[in-house]
Amino acid sequence: MILELANQRVLVVGLGKSGVDCAIFLKDRGAQVTVSDAKPPEQLGEAIPKLLDHGIVVETGGHGERTFRGQDLIVVSPGVPSDTPALLQARAMGEPVIGEIELAFRFLPGPIVAITGSNGKTTTTTLAGDIISAGGYPTLVGGNIGTTAISLVEKATPDSFIVLEVSSFQLETIEKFRPKIAVVLNVTPDHLDRHRTFEGYANAKARIFENQTADDYAVLNADDPVCVEFGKRTKSQVVWFSRKQDVKIGASVRNGRILFRKGKEEIEVMPVSEIPLKGSHNLENVLAAGCSGLLLGCEPSQVRKAITGFKAVEHRLEYVATVEGVEYYNDSKATNVDATIKALESFPGGIHLILGGKDKGSDYTLLNHLLRARVKRVYTIGAAAAKIESQVKGNAELVRAETLQRAVEAASESAVSGDVVLLAPACASFDQFENYGHRGRVFKELVQAIAVPTK
Ligand code: ADP
Repeated sequence: MILELANQRVLVVGLGKSGVDCAIFLKDRGAQVTVSDAKPPEQLGEAIPKLLDHGIVVETGGHGERTFRGQDLIVVSPGVPSDTPALLQARAMGEPVIGEIELAFRFLPGPIVAITGSNGKTTTTTLAGDIISAGGYPTLVGGNIGTTAISLVEKATPDSFIVLEVSSFQLETIEKFRPKIAVVLNVTPDHLDRHRTFEGYANAKARIFENQTADDYAVLNADDPVCVEFGKRTKSQVVWFSRKQDVKIGASVRNGRILFRKGKEEIEVMPVSEIPLKGSHNLENVLAAGCSGLLLGCEPSQVRKAITGFKAVEHRLEYVATVEGVEYYNDSKATNVDATIKALESFPGGIHLILGGKDKGSDYTLLNHLLRARVKRVYTIGAAAAKIESQVKGNAELVRAETLQRAVEAASESAVSGDVVLLAPACASFDQFENYGHRGRVFKELVQAIAVPTK
């Protein structure tokens, strides 16, 4: 199934991290590589000299119509919409169009655990990697998570287990990608600006099972209605996880203990109280990651050890500091409404919530019951402020802060000991920040600046 690349004409569309890694990978294997990006060169930073040094042809500031013609293969980056006219035309002419995950799959020798979902991917992928590694298996972690999947190829051996975080955008451009274990954590509305309908988004996620057979596993959330539907469609063996109900095959919780059941066999894994992460959503992530490890043959004691030693990934409900009795949490990665709901559910009340940024076509009214029950004040920032305010009005006291700095200042002035200041903005960050990481770091700096040293 390995692709023959020598002397093939390959076009890489989109010069993000994965595009650059793919272009170099392809060139190193003897392909004639061109890359094309709609952005002007000044926005593409250091990528261009690096590519030119490798002898790769670089086109920027738009896609020339002829660039797409006569290619043996087109590798498209996840940031490029699949309905980009030049791509549609290339597909219509019969040119194969795949994404980085598919390209990596053709060259990765070991079994793959692929993890997707609207929320929890990075946390679960990182934890699954820790668990499988604790089980004594050589493990490589990558995908939509810092290290690209394609860059794992040179490190992987046939013994390696590859744990990949995969997004719906990446799944849109697979062809033969077949994970041994495919995990879907949840499917809630996100990225509707690009997938248009919830159904389209859910269908993109479901492609993770597309090439699985009865030898493979689908690990699914029994408490998520879309996952339950997926369970009816897969050809692979379904293994459920649930924090609310017993499951016949898979992981569940009874009397505060995590159990894993396969047929008649029931294994006790660990008490829930030992999980070092906040929130019931993280219990779901733990159950899903635990299932993956146990299915691959890790011992329950090894799974338990990896989970108890795990720390929240940066920007995911990350504790920052306590200032005058007020706790500050950075959940900058809460870039959709469901993640914000989960963050609010993690605290009993007294919350000062910072919301806003770049809207993704979301419905913020879904926050209203939690705003009424747990939130003292909402501080709105960024381009989505007016939309959010119109949808949540009457459910919490609103303060138009405009900027994150003003929001932190206003929240710290009004919060009293025992309260929580929470950045869980339910929006993308690109209107005011480079990305959610930048937003989270700015938040942490602002909090550190108001923190008075405690004796
Ligand atoms: P992803 O990679 O899917 O974006 P992350 O682990 O980075 O997932 O978490 C993204 C956001 O979603 C964070 O705000 C986090 O607190 C929240 N979150 C994590 N796991 C879940 C889950 N299982 N369900 C809902 N929200 C979650």
